Amino acid sequence: MTRPVVTVAERRPTRQIHIGKVAVGGGAPISVQSMTTTKTADVEGTLSQIYALAAAGADIVRCTCNEPEAAEGLAQIVPRSPVPIVADIHFHHEMALAALEAGVQGLRLNPGNLRKESEIKLVASEARDRGVPIRIGVNAGSLHPEIAKRHGGATPEALVESARRELELFAEVDFFDVKISVKASSVPLMIAAYRLASETFDHPLHLGVTEAGPPPAGLIKATAGIATLLAEGIGDTIRYSLTADPVEEARAGRQLLEAMGLRERKGLDLIACPSCGRAEIDVIGVAAAAQRALEERQIPLQVAVMGCVVNGPGEAREADLGIAAGRHKGHLFIKGKIVRVVPEDQMVEALVAEAERLVAEGVEA
Ligand code: SF4
Repeated sequence: MTRPVVTVAERRPTRQIHIGKVAVGGGAPISVQSMTTTKTADVEGTLSQIYALAAAGADIVRCTCNEPEAAEGLAQIVPRSPVPIVADIHFHHEMALAALEAGVQGLRLNPGNLRKESEIKLVASEARDRGVPIRIGVNAGSLHPEIAKRHGGATPEALVESARRELELFAEVDFFDVKISVKASSVPLMIAAYRLASETFDHPLHLGVTEAGPPPAGLIKATAGIATLLAEGIGDTIRYSLTADPVEEARAGRQLLEAMGLRERKGLDLIACPSCGRAEIDVIGVAAAAQRALEERQIPLQVAVMGCVVNGPGEAREADLGIAAGRHKGHLFIKGKIVRVVPEDQMVEALVAEAERLVAEGVEA
């Protein structure tokens, strides 16, 4: 019995912009972003991190442009990067101009700390002339002080008002190539702010729970906020802000989109039961060893490791490859059919061998 395909939600319609070769909004696939942690002036170090992020699933990478040396670095990084580069700008509009001159494919401006109207309009005019989009990156932690005061703090209305004001300034110089974020470290606040932003604007939205912290709690917070909104059809591009190696951010973003059926699966999808008193093999040990071995070999299949006959045969049959365990052994399923019985101590080896054979034969996941 094949399972019906279920989709999470109709995507809310937004305009489309292009960050270099990556379309954002307007029905384009939801993209994954991350940010480098190297000094941008360190060209080789930054490029090697960008390559690692792209390999882990990042479609767009942001680098800080906080000093003239960073802009000089960007001029060398952009032509060698495998993905479009967005320059992150705070406080200094001249760094935005320098990043544009360096050839970046996008800018992020923080309306909370880049506040002079003439400077904002100058940057928007320059971006308009070069065809470079800008993200209005509102953040609850650095909200425009006057807006924060009027709203009594960083409320959803205050975050959205900050974005709207910046949009109005951009419109004065005929610049509309914009995406918007209204991030907060509080998940409920972030969800409410994005819901309001989605009702207010038709620009693409960049989702994130800012400063989510180290994993695993950071992963849970970021997922709670981002996934809730995606399930409502809100969001066009996402970033996990983790206190960790940014490769983890890119991987998490990609895995979330794949898990929600919003991007095609590129990597392994391991289905494994949590194990319980009924388990007839060491499910946790076998699943962890299988995951390590299959990830190392970059196997792009769905593989099930199940501890007993309760849900085992059903899950193993639906996956590309699966084990449904009995007493210290298990039925090995390939594409829905039982092919043989494998002893517990040979399960990982058998899964790896069959996975490699399926991949070599070009079997579609
Ligand atoms: Fe327990 Fe079996 Fe369910 Fe695994 S499949 S959690 S062993 S009942």
